[in-house]
Amino acid sequence: MAHLADFNTERKYQATIKKSERLTPPDTEEVREIILEVDPGFEVRVDQSFGVLVKTSGEFGKGMHHRLYSVADLPAKSNGKPLITMLVKRCSYVDEFSGELYQGVASNYLCDRKPGDKITVTGPFELPFVVPEDKQANLILIGMGTGIAPFRAFVKHIYKNVKDWKGKIRLFYGARSGLELLYLNNKDGDLTNYYDEETFEAFHALSPRPHWADPIELDKAIEDRAAEIVEILSQANTYIYVAGYEKIHEMLNKAFSKILGSKEKWATRKAELVAGKKWAEIIY
Ligand SMILES: Cc1cc2nc3c(=O)[nH]c(=O)nc-3n(C[C@H](O)[C@H](O)[C@H](O)COP(=O)(O)OP(=O)(O)OC[C@H]3O[C@@H](n4cnc5c(N)ncnc54)[C@H](O)[C@@H]3O)c2cc1C
Repeated sequence: MAHLADFNTERKYQATIKKSERLTPPDTEEVREIILEVDPGFEVRVDQSFGVLVKTSGEFGKGMHHRLYSVADLPAKSNGKPLITMLVKRCSYVDEFSGELYQGVASNYLCDRKPGDKITVTGPFELPFVVPEDKQANLILIGMGTGIAPFRAFVKHIYKNVKDWKGKIRLFYGARSGLELLYLNNKDGDLTNYYDEETFEAFHALSPRPHWADPIELDKAIEDRAAEIVEILSQANTYIYVAGYEKIHEMLNKAFSKILGSKEKWATRKAELVAGKKWAEIIY
């Protein structure tokens, strides 16, 4: 797995915030859709991410904070300049020792930017989610929270640009409450446009008690469709792509072990997917 320090921040571009819109209601986790207009020369594809550089000052002096964000929509152009869409969750963490609330540097910086503000972006960098050459291939896409971002762009790309996809595409998406289902909240050009594609289906999973921080039942959503997923997994040309937080691993291991009959069966099938480059993930 690549470390952030390995990403080259030498290639920098200025970007202007064109739009920043909150997708989630006020009393839920804040997720914003931000559209950037980047200076010419920065070309980014749907299967890429890019970096955001934030100047910081702390007890060890001035520094640069670098974080990566997925391309969340098909790249476009305005006046010859690239337009990039990103989904950003405002992050905060409670320090285990002091109990103090710590605001994530880059996500808060981005969520606080207003249209017209300039920021510095880096990259682009490759994401591991590649469109298979075989249009018969099946894709199981599993995203949690802002993990929907790369898949939103990916699904649109397949149906709009690659075209005539014959394999099944199944998108599983987890959020804490219905109000936080980002792709349903995005009115313009959201994934619901593809619901009538014969090969595409999207399922969402929620937390049964979002205010009690109960886990999102992504495992249950997969288990509820066990028959179809087992059938898809029995085919050699099936890919699984995963994006989201660390805890997604545990949920997926539980769900796939259950639907395949045992932990060992899932471990074997996952090893095949990994060996055949048919498993890809970004975890943050
Ligand atoms: C390939 C890739 C794609 C990504 N795509 C997206 C995307 O599309 N949208 C999105 O919103 N995010 C995305 N992320 C995550 C994003 O890069 C950032 O990690 C996220 O926004 C938090 O960064 P931050 O600077 O706000 O937080 P930071 O300031 O970096 O703080 C966050 C980290 O520091 C730790 N931390 C720091 N201080 C404390 C403390 N006092 N107590 C406890 N923990 C602490 C936290 O555990 C956490 O890991 C992606 C990540 C990767 C690797």
